[in-house]
Parts: sequence; structure tokens; C-alpha cells
Amino acid sequence: MGSVETVQGAVDAEELGVVLAHEHVRFRDEAVAAEWPGRYDEQLELDAALVAVNDAKDRGVQTIVDPTAMFGGRDVRFMKRVADQSGVKIVACTGIYSYDYLPHYFENRDVDVMADHFVEDIERGIQGTPIKAAFLKCAADAAGVTEHVEKIHRAVARASLQTGAPIMAHSMPAVGTGPRQVEIFAEEGVAPAKVQIAHCGDSDDVDYIQGLIDSGVYVGLDRYGLEMYLPIEKRNAVAAELLRRGHAERLMISQDFCASIDWFPPEAAEVFEASGAIRNWSMTLVFDEVVPALRELGALDDAGFDTIFRANPRRWLTA
Ligand SMILES: [Zn+2]
Repeated sequence: MGSVETVQGAVDAEELGVVLAHEHVRFRDEAVAAEWPGRYDEQLELDAALVAVNDAKDRGVQTIVDPTAMFGGRDVRFMKRVADQSGVKIVACTGIYSYDYLPHYFENRDVDVMADHFVEDIERGIQGTPIKAAFLKCAADAAGVTEHVEKIHRAVARASLQTGAPIMAHSMPAVGTGPRQVEIFAEEGVAPAKVQIAHCGDSDDVDYIQGLIDSGVYVGLDRYGLEMYLPIEKRNAVAAELLRRGHAERLMISQDFCASIDWFPPEAAEVFEASGAIRNWSMTLVFDEVVPALRELGALDDAGFDTIFRANPRRWLTA
């Protein structure tokens, strides 16, 4: 079956167990955090991460795939502290999370040089540690697949070809980025079974998602709780329909929860919850509400659960 790199070292893929395919133990603007560290409280962030991860562990989660890349404040030492103290395995990535901006450093270097940086994280280790990246991350959002975004996608694809590491691509269904992202990976020669297009579940256009599945990639229904993009009932209806159509083997269900995030001032969480922009956003929502609802709808049984939460992440990570 093969092994998978985690922040605590390589493990046999069988040991991953129940997996949340897309969660962040911490998310922050790394430039701000580097320049004004006094604005951050690492102990509070660690406590928040441990509460979230331990809650997930209570629901049976054994592994969390954390796609925090460059610009999300990736910090594998922090991830390892969370993994060590919770006993939950964390799978880290390499790549660049940008909707367009590229530092001059990468703007003035070519795609293959960028890919070399990612390969180094996969083969040698991240941030001066022996912790290796298990997958690659890139993103396309409201701006679409811009020139810079395309460059990152191609670098990620080339690093995947060199190392065998799979790819997760943040997408934005509202502007239909998914098909172009899939196309770029195909142009570079990446097998679709290595590719996961994240955030497809922000759309209730089942045929759009079906189109991506037909190309052979995995799709993420991975933002449960972020009602501002799509409320949970509509997310469940999409999931149920895809399951009825027999696509369990292509779905990743998760929450894209950030145990802490600095994008908004601290009081914003309450405002978002009060206005309905988020609802019960956590690392446990899919177990507390989504799985029971899908079972109720007759769309999910024990075998389907194992396919989505065990087999799919394992198959993708070892593709
Ligand atoms: Zn995310």
C-alpha cells in the first residue's frame, strides 16, 4: 500500500485510519506574523488547535490532512506540537497559496526553479526539519487562473511528476476555475488520480462537479460550516446526489476549519455566526451533522463512510 509522510515521520498508509482531508490547525498571514509577532499569542493558537483536533479525535479521527502552504503561515514545528500533544497524525504539504500575487523572488525565476523548491520539501524536509511534505498545494480563486496562478500550477505539476506526490488545488466553482486547473495538470502529464480539486462543494451545480469527476480527479466537499458559500442543507443535497450517482470513490468530505485564523479581528467570529455566514464551523461538524443527515437520506452507509473517510484520502495520498 505504501507509506505516507506525516509531521511525525512516515507511516504505513493503513495506519492513517479515519481522515479529515482538509483542515488547518492554524492559518495566518505569515508576513504579518513574521513582522509583528507580538500581535500573536502562540499559546492561545496551540490551545485552539488542540481543542479542535482533540474534538475530532473524539469522533474517531486519526489523521488530519492540513493543506497550509506558503502565505498561510505554514509552520511544521507548530503542526508537530499539535500532533505530538493530541496523538492525531498530521499530513503537511508544500506549495503556494496565492490567488495571484507572487513574490519577486518567484516572479523572476522560472517554473522549474519554483518546482525545485517544492521537491526539496518533499524529498529533504521543510523549514530545516526532517518533516517531509506529502502533497502539493496550489490555488485559483475569484481572479481565475491568472498568469501567476498558472505558473504555480505548472510548478506543482512538475514537482508531482518528479516525486510522485499528489496535488490539492483550491478552486472557486463560482467562477468555474476547476476545469482549467484540471487541464493544466493534464497538459503537464499528471495523472488525474493524483489530483484533488478542493471546494467543489461550494457549488450546488451537480453537473459542474460531475464534469470534474468524469475527468478522473477527486473533488472536495470540504467547506461544511461555511454557510456564506453554500448552506449545509444544499451541501448535503449535492453530496447525496453524487453518492446516488455512484461517486463515493471520488469524494473528500471535510470542513476547511481553521482552529485559528488572523484574517479577521477576533470579534468577527461571533458576527459571522450571528449573521449566519458560518454555522457550527468546526472539525467535528461532518460527524455531528453531515454523516447523520446523509445516512438519513439513505445516501451513506458504513461502506460509503469507509470509502470517503478512509480509502479515498489513503488512495489519493499513495496514488
Ligand atoms: Zn483550506
